[in-house]
Amino acid sequence: MLSKNFIELEEKYGAHNYHPLPVVLNKGEGAFVWDVEGKKYFDFLSAYSAVNQGHCHPKIIDALVEQAKTLTLTSRAFFNDKLGPYEKYITEFFGYEKVLPMNSGAEADETALKLARRWGYDKKGVAENQAKIIVCEGNFHGRTITIISMSTDPDSYKGFGPYTPGFEVIPYNNIPALEKALEDKNVVGFLVEPIQGEAGVFVPDEGYLKKAYDLCKLSNVLFIADEVQTGIARTGKMLACDHENVRPDILILGKALSGGVIPISAVLADDEIMLVIKPGEHGSTFGGNPLAAKVATAALEVVKEENLAEKAEKLGKIFRHEMTNFNNPMIELVRGKGLLNAIVIKPANGKEAWDVCVKMAENGLLAKPTHQHIIRFAPPLVITEAELYKAIEIIKKSINEIFES
Ligand code: PLP
Repeated sequence: MLSKNFIELEEKYGAHNYHPLPVVLNKGEGAFVWDVEGKKYFDFLSAYSAVNQGHCHPKIIDALVEQAKTLTLTSRAFFNDKLGPYEKYITEFFGYEKVLPMNSGAEADETALKLARRWGYDKKGVAENQAKIIVCEGNFHGRTITIISMSTDPDSYKGFGPYTPGFEVIPYNNIPALEKALEDKNVVGFLVEPIQGEAGVFVPDEGYLKKAYDLCKLSNVLFIADEVQTGIARTGKMLACDHENVRPDILILGKALSGGVIPISAVLADDEIMLVIKPGEHGSTFGGNPLAAKVATAALEVVKEENLAEKAEKLGKIFRHEMTNFNNPMIELVRGKGLLNAIVIKPANGKEAWDVCVKMAENGLLAKPTHQHIIRFAPPLVITEAELYKAIEIIKKSINEIFES
């Protein structure tokens, strides 16, 4: 079958909740993917930063295959011999006392919200059902009803009400607004993305996270970092919060925690917070399964062994330098940190970000617009410097071709 036939099948039998580029992939290795016709592409989306370690990393796949032959799932009704060692590894890795394993990023966010609310009632003394969580305009934390209840993007929330109460939305990167919102004694948490990925890679001012953290401490409010997209070396540090030496009270991880192999997410916190949830009050059939425990351990080992954070820092600087100095009227702005970057495209001759992405795909590089005028560029962190320069050439060539067409 050709690409066209696979696209027809998805159109006919799948829900239309995505609008993919017309490329059908069937193989991935490192920073590259191949389509069913055998054409090779740079992958500059990395499954929304889930494949930081590169496609089909041999060490992670070995861990998966080996464990899959032995034991995959027991549920948490029993202990298994892989979960404890993984919990020890990941808590020591990130410096927390406890971890709560889940599967998707949205589930981990939901877990953090429940933790913060329960902590508010049990420890802070907020009256039953009065807990409030502060979130930011432009946030993206997933697709559940509660999470879209705090979204400011109509595509996410419109037509899906009624919404979950208990959230206050303030502008992102705005300390006075946070200070004001924190005056409410019922606030239990501030949930924030250290860099807003889905919104279009919005990097807050230097010092924002630290100031926000300090303000939360003054008000006895939990600082909750959603590092599902920014975590695991993507922005040039193990966590994006590390850029400002902020240690979140609750840390949310997902995506690259599995190297893109299976859905694995996690919430990390110290005992004071994590132990407010008692047996039977939260869980997931698949959360903490032995397969996930082995895969996540291997995925984190790879990030350390291959110095992926340092690589992201160095290559990100090259990317931004090259693109900032690239002279084309369609480039309005280049921004980002590490290898999480975006270019804001100024439409020209009726051509916009989508057309640039289609042209880049023709020229052998895959990236996707986020919102109408922004293209996110986030290759697997295993990309080499030489490969990055080749990719940059394709991006420049494609933008030039679109501008001149
Ligand atoms: N949080 C952030 C910051 C994300 O970027 C995403 C996904 O893009 C999520 C949560 C949701 O993760 P998932 O799609 O695994 O539920």
